[in-house]
Amino acid sequence: MAGPKVAVVGAGLIGLSTALCITETCPSCSVTVLSDQFSPNTTSDVAAGILIPHTYPDTPIHVQKQWFRETFSHLFAISNSAEASEAGIHLVSGWQIFKNTPKEQLPFWLDVVLGFRPMSEAELQKFPQHRFGQAFTTLKCDCPPYMLWLEKRLKASGVQICPRKVADLWELHSEYNIVVNCAGIGAHQLVGDKKLFPVRGQVLKVQAPWVKNFIREGDGLTYIYPGIDSVTLGGTREKDNWSLSPDPGTTQDIFDRCCSLEPSLRGAQVVKVKVGLRPSRQSVRLQREVLSQGGVKLPVVHNYGHGSGGFSVHWGTAKDAAYLVRECIAALQGSSSRAKL
Ligand code: FAD
Repeated sequence: MAGPKVAVVGAGLIGLSTALCITETCPSCSVTVLSDQFSPNTTSDVAAGILIPHTYPDTPIHVQKQWFRETFSHLFAISNSAEASEAGIHLVSGWQIFKNTPKEQLPFWLDVVLGFRPMSEAELQKFPQHRFGQAFTTLKCDCPPYMLWLEKRLKASGVQICPRKVADLWELHSEYNIVVNCAGIGAHQLVGDKKLFPVRGQVLKVQAPWVKNFIREGDGLTYIYPGIDSVTLGGTREKDNWSLSPDPGTTQDIFDRCCSLEPSLRGAQVVKVKVGLRPSRQSVRLQREVLSQGGVKLPVVHNYGHGSGGFSVHWGTAKDAAYLVRECIAALQGSSSRAKL
């Protein structure tokens, strides 16, 4: 068969990185990204973009660790190249702090980040309300620069990028041989996935160039993540809340919580307030499926449901999705050669 035509639905972080991995893993494919929204109007553009894994309860830890390791090494190489500032990728050191010593003092990702160690008593003096902490260096992706950089790389690889809202994956069967579903929270409607739910997050972008270290409460609710041009202050985690409107009371609450961890932020100016819906699930849906109607078949690969941790694992899941696309191609080639016999 001629090079298979692959449609990737979704132009968030997951769609763009998956499309790029497909062009690298299956160079014979012609790849098109179809999406109703693009950067800077996706959930991915709202994210703080720090690489600290979120745990997916129904995915084996060794798989999550592999996704994180692959993502970390991929971005570490970019951070160490001439592309780093355009791609918006940089190293950042800081502290994850706990009011009470957690049961799990050694997270599964401790040997993937750099220089992980318990905080010293002297460091903990900075946080008088906290008893325990972990110090390490990780990576941060600044959005939208990272998204724009991915789009640029896709265009350079010959990938078509087209605005289009897809109402049903089947509508693509006559134009494409394989469809990859990276619709994020949009998959709730697109494929009727009832296991997928939004977790609303609100963040502030502030000007505070003197803040150089990240600070994160162990429960992930309050955080201060310095980026290249601004510092992201968070946050909220509101399950099943679909509202995309910023809430002024929440803005004040986030600001106050962050100032209690880093009092120098009182002098910072808030430049933007953003809201996004994390596409949450007990596990990422990374799976092959074959749709079929009247004897016609359409292979689909799903890659969505990254919840609070899409940035931390995106390259690992994109690689797995690309391998699933390769399996679909092998199956299509097998069936077309059987048909010729
Ligand atoms: P999206 O970015 O939402 O992209 C989905 C795409 O699909 C969009 O382009 C949309 O237009 C398109 N689409 C949907 N339906 C259709 C349709 N029917 N037809 C055509 N196109 C369609 N993760 C971390 O690892 N670290 C962090 O620090 C971090 N911070 C976060 C902070 C906040 C406030 C939020 C909200 C999230 C954060 N995340 C973080 C999580 C991360 O942002 C998500 O996991 C990730 O962005 C999900 O990417 P996605 O591509 O699946 O979804």
